[in-house]
Amino acid sequence: MAFRVFQKRERGQTKGVPKLNLENVTKTFGATAAVEGVSFSVDAGQYVTLTGPSGGGKTTLLRLIAGLETPDSGCIAVDGCPVTQLGAGDRKIAMLFQGNTLYPNLSVEDNLGLGLRLRRVAGIERRKKVAAMAKTLELSRLLHRLPENLSGGERQRTALGQALLQEPRVLLLDEPFSDLDGPLRKTLREELRCWHRELGLTVIHVTHDHQEAMALGAQIGFIHQGKLHQYATPEAVYRRPHSRCVAEFFGNPPMNLILGCLDTDGTNRKFQFGPDSADQITGVPSYFAPKLSKGEVIAGWRPEDLGLDLQLAPAGGTGLIRAIVASTEFGGAQTWVHLDLGKQVMTVRYTGENRIASGDTVWVRPDWSRAACFDVETGSALPLDPNSPCTGKPDSVSR
Ligand code: ATP
Repeated sequence: MAFRVFQKRERGQTKGVPKLNLENVTKTFGATAAVEGVSFSVDAGQYVTLTGPSGGGKTTLLRLIAGLETPDSGCIAVDGCPVTQLGAGDRKIAMLFQGNTLYPNLSVEDNLGLGLRLRRVAGIERRKKVAAMAKTLELSRLLHRLPENLSGGERQRTALGQALLQEPRVLLLDEPFSDLDGPLRKTLREELRCWHRELGLTVIHVTHDHQEAMALGAQIGFIHQGKLHQYATPEAVYRRPHSRCVAEFFGNPPMNLILGCLDTDGTNRKFQFGPDSADQITGVPSYFAPKLSKGEVIAGWRPEDLGLDLQLAPAGGTGLIRAIVASTEFGGAQTWVHLDLGKQVMTVRYTGENRIASGDTVWVRPDWSRAACFDVETGSALPLDPNSPCTGKPDSVSR
């Protein structure tokens, strides 16, 4: 039987694993508010991913949790005890930061075993643990090399192994896979998922990759310009984004955001998205922007929430959008069809077999029960009717 690097925990066992709580944490650098009034909680043993555009404040937030920065205001607590004034060494939190520094004069083996040596783990056990970790991280043949003779990815894997071998209770990861190529990145992602399950660690993982954030996080925090826009399950972030920038960040292709004007002729609500009467969708349900009878609004649909008809059904075009195909991208299981809506564009996922060509006229069937709705000025999501079919409870999906 293979040597286990870690003591396995039963699934869901989180005894001794801390929870974290951040309340109204703010950090400014000169005139830059790197982190502004951020509050969220991480349950014991939970895997949380923080993501968002570059310069949003993700690394600063990790450094604040690790104790490498002191907040201007707000509180960080571990298991209910404030640690805001404690130094990094007193927090029992292991860190793997972007551009990590390994000890240049130590071999890979010694770098990996450093934490074990400091904890006075006996030589034989230490070597077994290091060897098992090196095998997992595909570093076995490099154990005697110095960091300067490693590639960026090999250095990153060594640093990850070093952090994991500290057997921390909280692990902070800042872009741990950024230097790795696709297949290794995927393998390590899977490994990390298993380690997390086995160790029951509390993990906060920063990534700019929206797919990685959704694949790994039980909760995702989306940070932009220092503010936490949303903290929710991947399903909720994808399905019910709290703001336009969250909607645009997740998904590839991203959510279609169509600017238009809601109006009503007394009985029928319609959504006008272009200058002509042909550019309108009739039969807009009352649960879409229920408090708005007239006015500009941004409607959002994921490409998979738009049906595509290549011919107009005999019943006519009620509730459909007529559009011209601008281009198509064959993606294997689906074709992405990019449509021209006058001054706006829309991408639809098409899974049918028929060939679609640029210049074709098609009809789009928007699924209103899947539509998001954003304020034009603020970009915030407008409240939905609580009885609407859109208000499923993606937050309740457990992992
Ligand atoms: P990236 O994804 O590019 O790594 P990020 O989301 O991690 O970015 P941070 O590195 O936290 O963002 O930076 C947030 C903001 O704070 C940026 O505007 C950055 O320039 C600024 N900042 C961060 N650290 C410092 C510092 N030590 N001094 C001055 N400004 C800083």
